[in-house]
This record gives sequence, structure tokens and C-alpha cells, in this order.
Amino acid sequence: MKGLLSRRFVLDSRGIRPGDVFVAVKGKRVDGHEFVREAFERGAYAAVVEKPVKYNGNIYLVKSVVDFLADLAREKLGSLEGKRIIGITGSNGKTTTKEILYQLLSFTESVFKTPGNMNTEYGLPLSLINEYRNESILVLEMAMNKREDIKHLCSIAPPDIAVILNVGTSHIGLLGSRGDIMEAKLEIISYSKENSTVVCFHDDDELRERVKEFNKRTLFFGREGGDVVLEDWWYVNGDTVCIIRYFGEKIAFKLSGIWNEGQLLSLLASISVLKALDKELPVRILPELKLPENRFHVMRSNGLYIINDTYNASLESFDVAVKTMLRIGEGKKYAVVGSIKEQGMFSKETHERLGKKLEALDGVYLYTADDEINQMKCSKILMRSDNPKVIAEDLFNRVVEGDVILFKASRAVGIEKVLGKFMELLRR
Ligand code: ADP
Repeated sequence: MKGLLSRRFVLDSRGIRPGDVFVAVKGKRVDGHEFVREAFERGAYAAVVEKPVKYNGNIYLVKSVVDFLADLAREKLGSLEGKRIIGITGSNGKTTTKEILYQLLSFTESVFKTPGNMNTEYGLPLSLINEYRNESILVLEMAMNKREDIKHLCSIAPPDIAVILNVGTSHIGLLGSRGDIMEAKLEIISYSKENSTVVCFHDDDELRERVKEFNKRTLFFGREGGDVVLEDWWYVNGDTVCIIRYFGEKIAFKLSGIWNEGQLLSLLASISVLKALDKELPVRILPELKLPENRFHVMRSNGLYIINDTYNASLESFDVAVKTMLRIGEGKKYAVVGSIKEQGMFSKETHERLGKKLEALDGVYLYTADDEINQMKCSKILMRSDNPKVIAEDLFNRVVEGDVILFKASRAVGIEKVLGKFMELLRR
């Protein structure tokens, strides 16, 4: 298999370019094995499959594609000597933290990061196989939706620094309880390097006590206490002024744009990682930091504050979004919302809790692309529709200068369609 490492590995046959290796994966809806022929027609050099396929070509039949990718990624990574691996997990803020850390570290080091949200048993190894160029620092997102997912990712790249951002309720439908989610996330410590450092959220008592049991060097960040503490923040002319306590020392700085509490905590986690790496806090470059797109991004247009938080949603990220809306803009507060997915048997409770949070606003539009959001009860509902144009038009006719509008739902809902229609109307 050695020669294969110089090639690009691709899961989606439509993305195959001549010379690539096609990896057939059996997904929930489609089975990649059905696209082997198409991959070769597009010029694939080889295909990796888990079960025999009716095609006569350069086929590698393996026992498990997941194990195969992990082996290849380990081979690509090579010796771990002199390399520092930062593994980031948490229910909310992984991508945000990764992107902030990448910017902070890139000033002085060559840094590898998992691109986009390539953070699963497929995404993480594939990104290493295809894009790792022997960088000395690796910032890796480690996602999970069941026990042993993180153990597996750590078996590819065991962290020197294990970051736990928070334990929320994302994927609770798949895991069962918050306790189960916490134990699954703690695998990032159990399977980190022996002399690893832990960076962990302070304000969750249960999590904090569990983490202390590992007896590792641990840096805590939080609002209520820890080594790096978010003391206060406010918004001035569309920017964020922030005061933190950094190992006892008070530091004030400005950040570009509106950062919500969650995003600020992600910054504090990143700052703690720098400390764990024995690096100084680069206060001068903090105002230059950029947040990843479509995750609570506040835009100004026609005197309105339009919040593009269309990338994803959980109860916790809704909570920080609503709280932040109440702190910006002088006008009314509206939200266009869709379902929070992957909640399983908790779906009804989750949407009821969401409804209570949204009571703080002046008006709520439900985008009913799927039915789950209909379980929400809230006295502020102005309209329900599965038609983006209908919602956008009503909203457009309602808002006035100074109003704040949030667009937010789980990824699968595609609430950006409503935002897109609304922006079209604004541009007319
Ligand atoms: P993930 O990669 O874990 O899915 P993202 O970085 O994409 O998370 O952020 C998703 C959402 O969570 C954004 O809406 C953001 O505002 C919010 N967020 C970021 N960090 C936190 C945090 N520490 N706690 C709560 N919400 C957060």
C-alpha cells in the first residue's frame, strides 16, 4: 500500500480526479460500493472497498475501511517525535477554537489543522493523508457521536494537549445522557500521551471534578473561575472589548466584530493552549483574529443587525446567541429558527426548552423544512412556513433600522435559504 500515500484519497466518486484513490464507504443513505465503476470512469487509479464489487480494476479489498484509513494516516504522520498534537473536543465551539488557535500559532510556527469540519473517523485521517506536510504543530478537531470515537481518533494522533470545551447536549439522541456524553469526551484524556496537558472548561462542576481525577497537568478556563477567566466584555461600535484574568493578571483587549460568550470562551481555551505550549500571550494580534464563517457572524445592512448563525445549532449555542442579541442593537429582536437535529427521544424536550429561551425575543419565525421544530411552543411565534420566500417577505416588511435578526438551525435544515431570500430583498 506504500505507494498509495502519494495519491489523493476521495470518498465522493463525483470528486474523483484522474489518479485519485476512491474509498468506498457505506453511509446511512448511500453505499459507496455502488459507485466504484463511476470512480474508475472518472479516472480513479484504485478503489478501496470493504466488500467484493463486480468490477475488474485495481481494487483493494480491506477488512475495515475505517481501520485502513487510520493505518494510512498513522503512516503519513510518521514519527511523533518533535511534533505537538492538540486535540479539541466539546459539544460546541470545536471549529471556532481550532480556527483561533491556528491563527494564533501560525505567526511563529508551521501549523496543520483539520480543514472545515473534517473531524470524524473518516474526515480526520483523510485530511492527514491528503494534506499533512510534516508541520510540527497539529491542531485537530475530534468529534464524536458514540463511545470510542475519540479513542479511535487518539489512536491515530494522540494529543499532547487535550482540550475539552464543554459538555452539552449535541447528539444526545445517539448517546443517551449527559453523563454518557461526558465519559465519551473524557476519552481524549484517557488516550492522550502519557505526559499530556489538559485544557478544560472550569464552570461545569461535574466535568471539573472528573477531569481532576486523571491527575494530569490541567489548565482551566471559564467565566466563574480557573486560570484564564472571562471577567467582562461589551460591544463598542461593532467591536468587542474584553477583560480577562490571565493567571492572576488583568488584561484588556479589543476584538474585531461582535463575539458572543461562547466564542469568547473558545478564545480563552486557545489562550490556555498557548500557555500549555509555554508560549506568550500575543496580545497585539488579538484584534486581528477572525471567526469562522456562518457561526454567529453579525453583519450590518440597511441599519439592521443580521446574525448569520446558519451553520449549526444546539440548545447551548442558541442560549449564547439569544443572550448576545439582547446586548446588541437598539431595536426589536427577531429570530428565524429551524429544528435542532439528532436529539432522538429528547427532541420534544429540546424544542420545548428552545421555545422558553426564545420568549426573550420580540418575534419568532419557524422554518418548518422538517417537522421537529413544530414541537416548539412559544408565545412569540409570528409565522410558520416551509417556504423561505414567504418568511423572508414577511420579515422584510416588519423590520426597521436598529432591529436584530438571528438565523439559526441545525445544519441539515438549510436555514441559509431563508437568509439568502432575505438578503435578496434587502439588495433590491
Ligand atoms: P463545533 O465545531 O463544535 O460544531 P462551532 O465552532 O462550529 O462548533 O460553533 C458552533 C456554534 O457554537 C456557534 O454558533 C458559536 O456561536 C457557538 N459557540 C462557540 N463556542 C461555544 C462555547 N464554548 N459554548 C457555547 N457555544 C459556543
